[in-house]
Amino acid sequence: MQQFRLRKTLDTLARKEGRGTELVSLYVPPGKQISDAMTMLRDEYGTASNIKSTTTRKNVMDAIVRVQQRLKLFKEAPENGLVIFCGAIPQNGAGSERIETYVIVPPEPIRIYLYRCDARFHTEHLQELLREKETYGIILVDSSAATIAKLEGRRLEIVREMTSGVPGKTRAGGQSARRYERLREMRLQEYFTRVGEHANEIFLPIETLKGIIIAGPGPTKYDFEKGEYLNYMLKAKVIDVIDTAYVEEQGVKEVVDKAPEIMRKIRYIEERRIVQQFLYEIGHDTGMVTYGEDEVRRALEKGAVRTLLLSEGVDISRVTVKCGSCGYQEEQTMKNQMLASFEQSLSGKPCPKCKVPTLAVVETEELIENFAKLAEYTNSDVEVVSGETEEGQMLKNSFGGIAAILRFKLSQ
Ligand SMILES: [Zn+2]
Repeated sequence: MQQFRLRKTLDTLARKEGRGTELVSLYVPPGKQISDAMTMLRDEYGTASNIKSTTTRKNVMDAIVRVQQRLKLFKEAPENGLVIFCGAIPQNGAGSERIETYVIVPPEPIRIYLYRCDARFHTEHLQELLREKETYGIILVDSSAATIAKLEGRRLEIVREMTSGVPGKTRAGGQSARRYERLREMRLQEYFTRVGEHANEIFLPIETLKGIIIAGPGPTKYDFEKGEYLNYMLKAKVIDVIDTAYVEEQGVKEVVDKAPEIMRKIRYIEERRIVQQFLYEIGHDTGMVTYGEDEVRRALEKGAVRTLLLSEGVDISRVTVKCGSCGYQEEQTMKNQMLASFEQSLSGKPCPKCKVPTLAVVETEELIENFAKLAEYTNSDVEVVSGETEEGQMLKNSFGGIAAILRFKLSQ
């Protein structure tokens, strides 16, 4: 949920544009001395004093000072590092710039030290972090050795390497062929059991484990996959068995190179599965689903929503309007691009209750955020569905991008 909020914040920040090259982004990784960053900012401040445009110069220097002020509040960089975005953002056309400052403590350690002054905020490094927060297990196995690794976000860690102890296919002279074959088979079983035990020990405690990829150069990996060596919960998470040219670390890197493709595939499979379930319930008229803003809101308020489905890019906000004289209040929903003109339309408009023209927008909240919050109160799952699959497109275009799978039927 926290992740969801951060993602929304970053989306908003990514869309902001400065008047010129005057928006500051600063990434301070854990372990970096705050004093180093302060020194660097002092130099940047000096450089900024040479900027020709008066307005840009003033805005950049102001932004740097604000960043310094924020940074001073930290004795040292937090455990996961620190990101500050600061700059003059036009609020309502030229000349309406206001300095905005955002301090973000990332959910996972950042690994870059970066200062940028640009026409936009450099949010992409944080966005990457969110996108890749999941963990994947990799088991590379062939008849000679096995390697167990985990891929956490972009960080690859080889956790264990073991040799098989299984003798080669050709026996030494003097042994009976059958006896040799039996011995080899036994050793192979022992080896697979050992690999399975280590994998269980490593992967079972990982809560964010999204899937396991089994790989290796030969056919051995299929024998391992088919057997009962992995815990059943892990076995259910095996998403792919792939060929590699190499063993050991080199082979693991081959898997990682293919990983983005595999992960994207999984995410899409999940999205399709969830939308298909929704469509199934609709098609069979089970009464266990609902869609549309008002219906879904009603279901959420009754705690009836098991899974809330929201399409990415539903650009609608919930606006609260209040009368400054009598306290009259109403809520409206509208497209984000209508917000500015709606606000303007309020000036001079009489309040429906007391007729005094003192209506004003007191709060705007993105609908997707508003719904996600409601879902949080009632412990509903939230799935943000991309438009990358046919099902995702259908959810957005045919159902307005807001739908829910219910816990129980609602009376009409
Ligand atoms: Zn009023």
